[in-house]
Amino acid sequence: MIDNRTLTKKIQQLEAENGELKDRVEELSDFIENGALPLHWVDSSGIITWANQAELNTLGYRADEYIGHSITKFHADKAVIEDILSRLLNNETLTNYPARLLCKDGTIKYVLINSNVLHKGGEFVHTRCFTRDVTAIVEEQFKRNELLQEYELSEARLKMAIEAANLGIWEWNKKNNQVFWSAESKKILGLQEEDLTLAGVDRFLNAIAPEDRARVERELDLAMADGSEHRYDVTYRIRRIDNQELRWIRCQGLVEFDSYDRAKSITGTMLDVTDAKQADIKRAELAAIIDSSYDAVVGKSLEGIISSWNNSAQRMFGFEASEMIGESILKIYPEDLLQEKSIFMERVKAGERVEQYETKLLTKDGRLLDVSLTLSPIHDSEGNFIGVSKIARDITEKKREEQRKNDFVSMVSHELKTPLSTIMTYAQLLSKRAADEPKDFVLQAATKIDHQAKKMKALIKDFLELAKMDDGKTSLHTETFNLNTLITEVLADISPLTRRYTVELHMPEAVNLRADREKIGQVLINLISNATKYAPDSEKIKVGFTKSEGKVTIFVQDFGIGISETDQKRLFERFYRVDNPPGYHVAGFGIGLYIVSEILNDHGSRIQVESTLGKGSLFYFELNTEN
Ligand code: ADP
Repeated sequence: MIDNRTLTKKIQQLEAENGELKDRVEELSDFIENGALPLHWVDSSGIITWANQAELNTLGYRADEYIGHSITKFHADKAVIEDILSRLLNNETLTNYPARLLCKDGTIKYVLINSNVLHKGGEFVHTRCFTRDVTAIVEEQFKRNELLQEYELSEARLKMAIEAANLGIWEWNKKNNQVFWSAESKKILGLQEEDLTLAGVDRFLNAIAPEDRARVERELDLAMADGSEHRYDVTYRIRRIDNQELRWIRCQGLVEFDSYDRAKSITGTMLDVTDAKQADIKRAELAAIIDSSYDAVVGKSLEGIISSWNNSAQRMFGFEASEMIGESILKIYPEDLLQEKSIFMERVKAGERVEQYETKLLTKDGRLLDVSLTLSPIHDSEGNFIGVSKIARDITEKKREEQRKNDFVSMVSHELKTPLSTIMTYAQLLSKRAADEPKDFVLQAATKIDHQAKKMKALIKDFLELAKMDDGKTSLHTETFNLNTLITEVLADISPLTRRYTVELHMPEAVNLRADREKIGQVLINLISNATKYAPDSEKIKVGFTKSEGKVTIFVQDFGIGISETDQKRLFERFYRVDNPPGYHVAGFGIGLYIVSEILNDHGSRIQVESTLGKGSLFYFELNTEN
């Protein structure tokens, strides 16, 4: 029998227990509802029947957007949720099953699912799924993988670049003086592949060409010195270890120091730059050739901006390279010739080369310079037209010579025609009047004819000589002859020219010469006829020679107009004529003395002159005698 008190007590105890249980249930519910661990239940048809706040927070849904919906909807991979559900229906327990869930904001959460099924009385009630958000970890992993990939990629890229550039890598350990060589370094140095990768440094230092060794060592010392950049970059020659071939290499290095500030190692690259160096040398040679060229060589862009200007350009135009580079080529174009030049530029732009085109360009001091231009297009390695090279040759002298030649030709025709028409006139008169004219007229006419014919003969002889000289066909016909006889003969031959003068002969003794008799005769004729031509107001001419041991000095002296010192210097140039004052103008071609000087040259002698303006001139030359 249970009395009331006992019952009441029992009830009180049960109530207390019940209260405690209620508290526990509340605590548990709160833990499940509000705990940090995401949790949801799914029924046998895959519908979410419940989810706690942590789960909703993780994915960002409101309860009504999540609970009551199929779990499949929230999985990014259909196959994964199907597998999960089928496993759970088979009563499996899932531990850390990886899955990807779709959040409300469109992002994906990586989760690990732990789940099993609650059965009641053998009946499937629901699955209980704990979802652990591992997104941060997974993303971290991804990032790490990406970094790793990037690192591998850049490593591969660096390797590729090193290989493509044929860069050798080396590291010199200063402590044990051993050097590590990469395969490419070995190739550059001519080491065998099977040669030790670590080798003593001496072997390498010995390969450096002796003339560069001191410089390399100095650069190394400098890189290791205090306060330096600890880098070095030096290009030098080596003799390849395998075949002694001379190669240029460029080494760049960085010195590393230990904690005691001692150089620990030098790491660097090595590149065979022989081809580039040779191209450099070639470029330098070419530049030197261009610089020493007698012609002006100028490079300019399509827009006419000067990019190079050699020494001769400076000499010819007077502008320094620094005044011209970067400036327009128009600076040396005279305005009135601009149009003509642009026509040529068009031709060059069309890829044509314009050769030896004669024109005038402007110098710094405003002179017009006669030049012959050669314009050639400059192309880059792809064949694009990028500029023009212009070679200008100074043809001032050539132009002057042309002018003299033209004057010469017109004078020749005049000078040959005048005596010829005199000859013809007198010959006609003679034949007409021969019968009834007095004797002295015949004599006078015959003398005139003779005189003019002699003049022509001498002229024609000079022309022939000049033509032969131009053809390089002059040769000496040496013979032994008596000088006294030659002088007498020449004077007799040109007596019509010297008739007006007293010829003072100076021939102290008989002299035999070995020379070209005819040519020495021609020299004498030229000198004596000049002595008559350029001394219209005087009366005397001295002709003759003086003799010393083995030598004779032959001279012709006049007391005429004389020659200035400046003219004396140029007298023997071809076509050179002195501009004599108007009263003294004498016809001539300016070839007589040129021929004289050439003939004497061929004889190993030299024509010399002493002269004073207004007083007269003395021409003389030396020859060896036979006796
Ligand atoms: P050309 O007499 O035909 O002009 P040359 O070569 O013989 O040519 O002489 C060149 C120039 O030298 C002459 O134009 C003349 O002015 C000058 N010359 C030559 N000989 C004499 C001389 N004896 N006295 C003065 N001038 C002279």
